[in-house]
Amino acid sequence: MIDIATIAEIVGAGNVVMNESMGKHTTFRTGGNAEYFITPDMDTLKSVIDYLNKEDYPYYVIGNGSNLLVKDSGYKGAIIRITTGFNDCDIQGNAIVAGAGMMLARLSAIACENGLKGMEFASGIPGTLGGAVTMNAGAYGGEMSQVLKYVKVMDSDGNIFTLNADELNLGYRHSIIMEKQMIVLEVCVVLERGDTQEIKNEMNELAAKRKEKQPLEYPSAGSTFKRPEGYFAGKLIMDAGLRGKMHGGAQVSEKHCGFIVNRHNATATDIIELMKEVTDCVYDKFGVKLEPEVRILG
Ligand SMILES: Cc1cc2nc3c(=O)[nH]c(=O)nc-3n(C[C@H](O)[C@H](O)[C@H](O)COP(=O)(O)OP(=O)(O)OC[C@H]3O[C@@H](n4cnc5c(N)ncnc54)[C@H](O)[C@@H]3O)c2cc1C
Repeated sequence: MIDIATIAEIVGAGNVVMNESMGKHTTFRTGGNAEYFITPDMDTLKSVIDYLNKEDYPYYVIGNGSNLLVKDSGYKGAIIRITTGFNDCDIQGNAIVAGAGMMLARLSAIACENGLKGMEFASGIPGTLGGAVTMNAGAYGGEMSQVLKYVKVMDSDGNIFTLNADELNLGYRHSIIMEKQMIVLEVCVVLERGDTQEIKNEMNELAAKRKEKQPLEYPSAGSTFKRPEGYFAGKLIMDAGLRGKMHGGAQVSEKHCGFIVNRHNATATDIIELMKEVTDCVYDKFGVKLEPEVRILG
């Protein structure tokens, strides 16, 4: 069993708590508790991992929690949040090397200010750089694989090394980071020279599109399901007659059926059960199996 005093000695007393509600750390704004919730920085992460390994205690790494749902029964382990302690940024010609905890919006803004083009697609994705590499996040024709040069990672034994983009097996919302329980520490993206005003205009246009099409007024984790080959999940769900369908406080968004939203104090169970109803109904009607994009933990 692990001991909070030992972790506090490593990360500082304010950076570890017990029985933390994950509703506070996920954009769904609901979910069970994490037994331990730890926010290390670049200097303390390795000691935390070494300690958890020594005690054989499970852990799970998160960024901004924008693609994550923690079951109401909670997570019996330590959640390690990679955000503010991993925020360094260095511009090297057309490349930016940034900490995995940096938000994509911030990195896109830095790129724009420096006349670097290529991160516009990511400016409205509400996640960290580490989460975006892990998920190979993408939007509006762009995805992380197109700009990524290398990542610095820590493996589950605490070893730190660099992997080039072509070693990450990046696919549609997939990378080897999630398969191998690696932790992204730092990311290098390579961009192109561009005009700051044009880049800004492109980001504003994409933000307006998002606002028009997506239910940003309610908590969610973005697209709930992956895009099945040859189809759009939102269209299948709409054609199955599920627009606005509710289960407890969870709802298939009326604005964009690809999003399940926390409409009114939804529990994680409400969301998971609605996901199941939607999956079953779409399969019965169209024979297409929807796969969750949102990561479910617990
Ligand atoms: C309104 C809204 C719109 C969205 N639009 C898009 C979109 O257009 N395109 C898109 O692709 N996604 C979209 N998303 C989903 C989400 O924002 C992305 O998947 C994002 O990249 C997740 O980053 P995160 O930091 O929040 O990761 P989290 O949700 O915290 O974690 C997601 C996964 O990444 C892993 N992870 C996170 N950080 C690290 C790290 N440092 N090292 C190792 N593993 C890590 C976690 O273990 C987990 O498996 C949207 C979400 C919302 C709420």
